[in-house]
Amino acid sequence: MSPVNGDDRYRSCPSWCQEPAGHLRPEPNGPGGYHTAEIALIDLPERDGIRGDPLELVVRIEQYVTHTTADPPVITLGSSDIDEPDREGLTADETEDLVGALQRAIATLRAGSSGAGFVV
Ligand SMILES: [Zn+2]
Repeated sequence: MSPVNGDDRYRSCPSWCQEPAGHLRPEPNGPGGYHTAEIALIDLPERDGIRGDPLELVVRIEQYVTHTTADPPVITLGSSDIDEPDREGLTADETEDLVGALQRAIATLRAGSSGAGFVV
């Protein structure tokens, strides 16, 4: 057993992590792991003309850490499968920009007419 040399900061959980304490024990030169917090689970049902299959979206906070490094924590929006590779991680500031843009899109859509021939 080699002594622990200050790497504990990468193993101890940030305050927002919902995993059990001490869940991450990355090995030297081994793969890392994630601190995670699931913020919301959004069930989107099948909907004619919009989506053929039900979709489950999860909003999470994630931070990837290895034995010696810790990536900045990010907010992700994606499927409920945490191993899915195409999740996009955004910083808090970037997410704020995204939320603002989404709110503008909602306002634009709701303020406009439903469009010629479009029946809800
Ligand atoms: Zn953790």
